[in-house]
Amino acid sequence: MNDDYELLMIPGPTNLPDEVRQALSAPQISHRVGRFKQLITECTEGLQQLFGTRQPVITLTSSGTGAMEAALVNMLSPGDPVVAVDTGKFGDRLALIAEAFGAQVHRLRVERGQVARPEQLQEACEAARPRAVLMIQNETSTGVCQDVAALAEVARRCDALTMVDCVSSLGGYPMLMDEWGLDAVVAGSQKALMLPPGLAFIAYSERAWEATEQAQMPKFYFDLRAARKSLTKQQTPYTPNTSLFVALKAALDLIFNEGLEEGFTRHRRLAAATRAAVQAMGLGLFADPQHLSTTVTAITSPPGVDSSDLTKLVRENCQIIISGGQDELKGKIFRIGHLGLAQLDELLRTLSATAAGLNELGFACDGSAALAAAQAAYEETT
Ligand code: PLP
Repeated sequence: MNDDYELLMIPGPTNLPDEVRQALSAPQISHRVGRFKQLITECTEGLQQLFGTRQPVITLTSSGTGAMEAALVNMLSPGDPVVAVDTGKFGDRLALIAEAFGAQVHRLRVERGQVARPEQLQEACEAARPRAVLMIQNETSTGVCQDVAALAEVARRCDALTMVDCVSSLGGYPMLMDEWGLDAVVAGSQKALMLPPGLAFIAYSERAWEATEQAQMPKFYFDLRAARKSLTKQQTPYTPNTSLFVALKAALDLIFNEGLEEGFTRHRRLAAATRAAVQAMGLGLFADPQHLSTTVTAITSPPGVDSSDLTKLVRENCQIIISGGQDELKGKIFRIGHLGLAQLDELLRTLSATAAGLNELGFACDGSAALAAAQAAYEETT
C-alpha cells in the first residue's frame, strides 16, 4: 500500500481486488485475432447471468451514461412521449438525455429519498401515453432501491417499453431482466462489478430490438444493431478497451466464485451494519426505510454539520473517501458506499472515522456504540 492509497467507500468507483489489478497489467491483446473472441464470449455469458437474461449483453467502451444514451436512442424517435421517473440525480439524467434527443419528456418527480409508487406511475402513464418509461433501480444520489418489477408491470399494461438503469446495483442486488419483463437494462463497470470506470453494459428485450427498426434518434458509435451484429462474430464494431475486458473476466470469476446469492447477502449485511451504526450515532437515514438500497446508504447530516466538511475531514484524517450530497442535497446528506469488494472491517474503519469526524465538528456521538451496533446487525442479518 503506498501513500496515495485511499479507501473508497463511495458508491463507485470502488476498490479493486488484486486479481483485477493483476489482470489490468497483463500484456495487451489484439481485439481482432487470438483470444479476444473467447474472452468476449465468456464475459457476455457471465453478464447474461448477472442481468438475468437470455438476450445478448452488449459491452460498450464508455461510462454508464453512454449506455443510458444508447438505451434511449436505439428504441425511440424524436417527439416520442416518455415518462422519466425522476428519483434524483440519475433519474434526472435519464430525463435530460431523452430531452437532448428530442423526446417529449414527462417527468414523474418523486420526493427525494422516496421511490415511485405503481399507482403514481399508472396515473402518469394514463396522462402521457408514453412510448417508454425510464427509471433507476438503485438511485445512488438518495440511497433508495425501487421495485422495478412492479413499475415495469404498470408500464407494460400501458403498452410502454421499460428502460432500467441498474448501474449502482448490478452485482450487489438481484436483476432478473427477463422474469421482470424489462425491455432495456443498463449497467456500468465501476460499481459492484469491482472494475475501473470505462465499460458499460446493455441488454435489450425482443420488443426493444423490434423497436430499433423504427427508432429515428441519431446514433453512430452507440448503434446497438451494429454492436449486436459484431457480437455474433465475437467482435465489437470499434476498438474496445481490451484491458478492461481482461479485467472483466477476472471480476466475473470472483463474483461467481463467491456466488451471486452469497454476494447479495454480503451486501445486505453490510447495509444493515451501516444503518445500525449511523442510527446508534443518533443520525437519521435519508431514504424511505421500506426501500433502502443495499449498496449505498444516505445519511442526513445532523443540525449544524455541513456534510461537505465531514467528508473532507474523514478524507484528510483517515484517507477514507465517503460521498457528500449532490445537487439540492449538497451539504445536507452524506453517503457511504458498501458495494463490490467491500468487507466488514473496512466498513467499521469508515464508521469509526465518521464518528470521529462528527465529534470534531461538534456533534457528540459514541463511536464504540456505533461499531458494536454495526457488528451486531451484521451478525443478525442473513
Ligand atoms: N446511473 C447511476 C444510478 C449512477 O450511480 C451513475 C454513476 O454514479 C450513472 C448512472 C452514471 O454513470 P457514469 O458516471 O459511469 O457515466
